[in-house]
Amino acid sequence: AKRQGKGRICVYTSDMTDTVRTRLNLEQGLHHALERQELELYYQPVFSMANERLSGFEALIRWNHPVSGVLLPDQFIRIAEESGQIQSIGSWVLDTALQQLSQWTEATGTALVMAVNVSPKQFLQDDFLASVELALRRWQVPAHQLEIEITESVLQDFQRSRGIVSGLRELGVSVAIDDFGTGYSSLALLKHLPVSRIKIDRSFILALPGNARDHGLVSVMLKMAGSLELEVTAEGVETWQQAAVLQQLGCSAAQGFYYGQPAPTATALHDAICRHDR
Ligand code: C2E
Ligand code: CA
Ligand code: CA
Ligand code: CA
Repeated sequence: AKRQGKGRICVYTSDMTDTVRTRLNLEQGLHHALERQELELYYQPVFSMANERLSGFEALIRWNHPVSGVLLPDQFIRIAEESGQIQSIGSWVLDTALQQLSQWTEATGTALVMAVNVSPKQFLQDDFLASVELALRRWQVPAHQLEIEITESVLQDFQRSRGIVSGLRELGVSVAIDDFGTGYSSLALLKHLPVSRIKIDRSFILALPGNARDHGLVSVMLKMAGSLELEVTAEGVETWQQAAVLQQLGCSAAQGFYYGQPAPTATALHDAICRHDR
């Protein structure tokens, strides 16, 4: 309750919409989420299309909320960005993903690649490059086993983004444009930033193979990537028909429920390897 002028008392929360209340709760809860170890990374396998082999994983954050259960990133990443908590969450993600990668690399004897999503705020931070170098060294992960995923929102400061992308590439780290084809500046990103991969957004894959227009768009994106010597991952592959078309079109990597759901550490590697064996 909050005291207002003229001795009026109003119950503050009754004036708030549910969304505002939820937001406040989440923002406060997020403060403790890290220290209380409520954040967790799930890992979704990425497969090479040429040999149907596991090539790596994408780390996807979850929040095991004490009251609401498992929250998806869409429910709290935005809040973390706006409240400035994304920096510390982001470095936790990088560190945890690389630690996991070093374990899996040792367990499999394979140089799997770990893809990590990075918020523009975190990416544009002064010490981002240094923190990547530090995390790689800390877990003794070769730079080429790390891929940083960015979205077109980094274009808000493209001079700086270019410097950071170049710096990552000089270290040997791959940089992928996430959700490629959505938004208005996918091509501007390619023009300005020396990235190594595009991830074709799920919305283009969804209606394959039936939709001729989407088929045409995906085919053009793959040709363009080929002539720019970019690697490609197709996202959101859910059926073998979609996988078959993508393979036919020469797509080199794919990810999606057809290949495997995001899964916690305990099962992710096992699931991915069993998928491969079946
Ligand atoms: P994204 O990077 O585009 O990740 C792919 C999303 O699609 C994931 O949702 C994944 O679970 C989902 N997905 C994967 N395969 C399929 C499929 O075959 N069909 C369908 N319908 N969905 C599929 P998720 O885990 O909820 O993540 C949502 C977004 O949150 C991510 O989109 C990414 O932008 C962001 N995010 C996730 N983890 C992090 C993180 O650690 N840091 C930051 N900054 N953002 C993150
Ligand atoms: Ca991503
Ligand atoms: Ca994506
Ligand atoms: Ca997305």
